[in-house]
Amino acid sequence: MGSVGDTKDSRPVDKRNRPLHDLRISLTDRCNFRCTYCMPKDVFGPDFAFLPREELLTNPEIIRLAGLFVQCGVSKIRLTGGEPLLRSDLDPLIQSLSRMDGVEEIALTTNGSILTEERARRLKAAGLSRINVSLDALDDAVFQKMNDVHFPVQKVLAAIEAAKGARIAPVKVNMVVRRGWNEDQIVPMAEYFRGTGTILRFIEFMDVGNSNHWRYDEVVSAKEIVTTIGKVWPLEPVAPNYQGEVATRYRYVDGKGEIGVIASVTQAFCGDCTRARLSPEGKLFTCLFRDTGPDFRALLRQGSSDDDILDVIRQTWRMRDDKYSEQRSELAGRVHKVEMSHIGG
Ligand code: SAM
Ligand code: SF4
Ligand code: SF4
Repeated sequence: MGSVGDTKDSRPVDKRNRPLHDLRISLTDRCNFRCTYCMPKDVFGPDFAFLPREELLTNPEIIRLAGLFVQCGVSKIRLTGGEPLLRSDLDPLIQSLSRMDGVEEIALTTNGSILTEERARRLKAAGLSRINVSLDALDDAVFQKMNDVHFPVQKVLAAIEAAKGARIAPVKVNMVVRRGWNEDQIVPMAEYFRGTGTILRFIEFMDVGNSNHWRYDEVVSAKEIVTTIGKVWPLEPVAPNYQGEVATRYRYVDGKGEIGVIASVTQAFCGDCTRARLSPEGKLFTCLFRDTGPDFRALLRQGSSDDDILDVIRQTWRMRDDKYSEQRSELAGRVHKVEMSHIGG
């Protein structure tokens, strides 16, 4: 029997009446970048203990779990990390997930560092529907200071072109804005992507994890970002594509496309949050700001039946009451949270 508010017994809703629609799967906790706002080197240095390979979910384990999440209402899957392209068995995984009944969309978030034209074509052929490439600046010195591994802008721009060339559409670019680091790149980035069909999305610097030295005064608000761009090229709001869309959309009045702003800090959108997150070792997180969740790898490896696993998914979702972003001022600095590089964006 479903809890009050469930639309169907098989599709749970949580305590705030939010259904389960999206599953973000983090494929690895490793990354070849050390973005200062995500994996700062003082914590993620040479001695950092990443998960051993045998602790990661295998492709068959991910596929089985994803199928069960689909039975609970999931229709969109995003693959993330760490850096998901570091996983060499990515193509067959995408192929299986994209062929699954009930899955409408398979998306990927990547830093683009190893996305060649050939790899982009393979991802598209496997069934990838959408891609987000992260890029925080057009200026090489600023970008290299942020990725902290001397990675050049040009290679990420080439990756964006590779994704477009492979017709993975739409391509979106994620830019985290951190005051004192890259706010002077807002206008150059907008200028570069205006009129190209690529949608640039500005993300407020978030207090994810425990190690990124987050400070409120380093958050550049979505409002400030929109005002900054609007002074150069007037903008007007656009209705969301669907309820619960993370980015607030604006279009250039002169018809040169649109941008998005993700105001997770200054305008919490927990009320519409329908996202579950699976960690590389198979734990389910019902919020980006939690520190743990039920262990599905243990269930899989101890031989649990599909029904047993479905029960755990549904019960976990029904108990969900997360709203960290609405409670940030009370909770910031007082709760332990999973790292963003472990659970993905
Ligand atoms: N490595 C891939 C990448 O960078 O695209 C995928 C994983 S990364 C954790 C996913 C997204 O989270 C990226 O767009 C990244 O910029 C964003 N992100 C990481 N740390 C963040 C923070 N502190 N605040 C806001 N966004 C953050
Ligand atoms: Fe790596 Fe992505 Fe985190 Fe940067 S944001 S360190 S690319 S996981
Ligand atoms: Fe969802 Fe948690 Fe973010 Fe709120 S804080 S939008 S519940 S992930």
